[in-house]
Amino acid sequence: MIPPLRSAHRLRPLIAASFLCASLSTAAAQGPATESQAHGAPLTKRSAVVSVYHHVSEQTPASTSLSPARFEQHLAHLRDTGYAILPLPALLDALAYGTELADNAVAITFDDGYESIYENAFPLLQAYDYPFTLFVSTGPIDRGQAGYLTWDEIREMVAAGVSVGNHGTEHASLIVLDSAAMREDIEAAQQRIDAELGNQPKLFAYPYGEYNPEAKALLAELGYRGLAQNSGAIGPHSDPQALPRFPLAGLYSELEGVKQKYATLAFDVTRSAQESPISTLDAPRSTLQFAPSEDYDLSSINCFDEGAAIALEWSEATTGLVTLMPTARDRGRRWHYICTARQRGKQRYYWYSVPWFDPSQPQ
Ligand SMILES: [Zn+2]
Repeated sequence: MIPPLRSAHRLRPLIAASFLCASLSTAAAQGPATESQAHGAPLTKRSAVVSVYHHVSEQTPASTSLSPARFEQHLAHLRDTGYAILPLPALLDALAYGTELADNAVAITFDDGYESIYENAFPLLQAYDYPFTLFVSTGPIDRGQAGYLTWDEIREMVAAGVSVGNHGTEHASLIVLDSAAMREDIEAAQQRIDAELGNQPKLFAYPYGEYNPEAKALLAELGYRGLAQNSGAIGPHSDPQALPRFPLAGLYSELEGVKQKYATLAFDVTRSAQESPISTLDAPRSTLQFAPSEDYDLSSINCFDEGAAIALEWSEATTGLVTLMPTARDRGRRWHYICTARQRGKQRYYWYSVPWFDPSQPQ
């Protein structure tokens, strides 16, 4: 049984506030002011946004749904603004191999495999001629569970150019499985997908967006890219087994916020390699290395925890090495910190988030 999705894919209400707060300037949030030559293609051409949707319906849980009319608003915005909508595998290949992208490249994804994708989203996406990727959990489809797509419907979408990725067999969070169970879950789902649909790209979307170092290492060993659910654009240094996506359901489906998110750019940033996203602390710190860029000032970077500014401790001027020092608060199963900086002279924002998962908390 797949657990109900009450809070499964819901992010904390912080995104909208972060843009309002982006001009907040506290002493602690001041970073060093520096510029240096960006190497290679501009960051805007090495950056892309991937969205994740679940239900496109008015009859399904609000936190993971948006109405067909709202979904079409998103598509119309993408078309009217001239976004380049790419198949996810092609988009990720371009980023991995350093191929320049359009400076507004986007891929659209759906998780879980709900029937409203076929009924409501697919006809709209065909009308706009937009590619997309479905991440399916195979157990409910194999059982013919109510509310889910059938293999025949998925085959029809694949014939129209849709790619299908792996979302586990029973939507189990990998962070509570041992390594043998993780491997079994991933491989059993892929066998079913490939048996029904022919070989599909090796893409895995973590159920609930939850991963740990063992899950990432296993995906890398098996040759999968891993898609998460924390917000942010994907850039040249994004972790290939922890790629961010913007969930755009519920409150986050409103058009103004959606416009901002589809326009975001990826910081050239790396998270401290020894840092795991697993934590039972109420204020875990995170150390990030931001590459200096001509396109944003390090001093304009602000980070947020549920909409509140996080104190930043810069290691020294100009290096871009910073530690996020949030204040303690009650944490649930999942939370994340968001860092943004406005593109110099433009309306777009660079965006990076740091996800945290506490497996001791209920799902
Ligand atoms: Zn899911």
